Amino acid sequence: MINTPAIALTELRKSFRGPGNTTINAVDGISLTVAPGEVVAFLGPNGAGKTTTLDMLLGLTTPDSGTVHVYGTSPREATSNGRIAAVLQNGGLHPDFTVAETVEIVASLHGRLDDVGTVMYATGLTDLAGRKVSRCSGGEQQRIKFALATLPDPDLLVLDEPTAGMDVDARRAFWSTMRADAANGRTVLFATHYLEEADAFADRIVLIAGGRIVADGPTADIRNMAGRRVVSAIVDDADLTELTRVVPGVEIIERRGGRTYLAAPDSDVLARALFNTPRAREVEIAGHNLEDAFLTLTAGATRAEH
Ligand code: ADP
Repeated sequence: MINTPAIALTELRKSFRGPGNTTINAVDGISLTVAPGEVVAFLGPNGAGKTTTLDMLLGLTTPDSGTVHVYGTSPREATSNGRIAAVLQNGGLHPDFTVAETVEIVASLHGRLDDVGTVMYATGLTDLAGRKVSRCSGGEQQRIKFALATLPDPDLLVLDEPTAGMDVDARRAFWSTMRADAANGRTVLFATHYLEEADAFADRIVLIAGGRIVADGPTADIRNMAGRRVVSAIVDDADLTELTRVVPGVEIIERRGGRTYLAAPDSDVLARALFNTPRAREVEIAGHNLEDAFLTLTAGATRAEH
């Protein structure tokens, strides 16, 4: 059993009916294996298919096709064994209970009443113990959900946009708690649309756009890929053909509004070649803005609709 992956998704697909009787392929062939102990960011823009994938992983939605295994079993089995727990975006908390009551109820279900104080302290809820859930901010409610998810001491924790609604300080505090938790060997898969968040916390980034995985690798590799300089210019087809011949590894990322966006392993070589191309005009070099680069990386993957 040692080599059994924490998560094994094979060719997962799920589509929904969209407006005007169109079909939205929310998840369009996702295969993913996560080893025990990995901390993986599922990173992609809004609408990429992250929540739909996580819902299938948790057994909340049935795939149209493909398979889901969690520690070698079905999601349902993994959930009932307490091996998997989740912090989801919506619902789940009773507004009239206090924070302490909420944590105590779930703790009693898992026979962990003795640990309530420790869990509340670890998740920064001690000072909120007597407050009604309805009076907690969005960020505080996320922390309550996190506390509840850790109570069964799951092997795999799945978090969907866990810091949505938190300010910068709350976000930082949340991740430091998470980091401490993951250091104890828990497998964590979290969805986010913040590249910085994925970069700061995950060992591995799985980049998703248009229902497909567009990149998957160690965080440092994805950061380098996303952080590469993009050089753009107005350039004709003949010059472009010549450029692809003389610049090693040059890649055409996109052609938009008459402008061609290019990248190469050595962006200086690429820029120099463009400046030396007589008919290339308005050469621009984009800096290391991670968010822009992330958008460029995911821009090519458009969802198939029919
Ligand atoms: P993400 O979590 O990355 O923001 P989602 O998985 O929520 O993306 O959504 C992927 C796509 O599927 C989006 O286009 C969304 O509008 C669509 N979608 C998700 N759930 C439904 C649903 N229940 N009915 C119709 N369309 C849906």
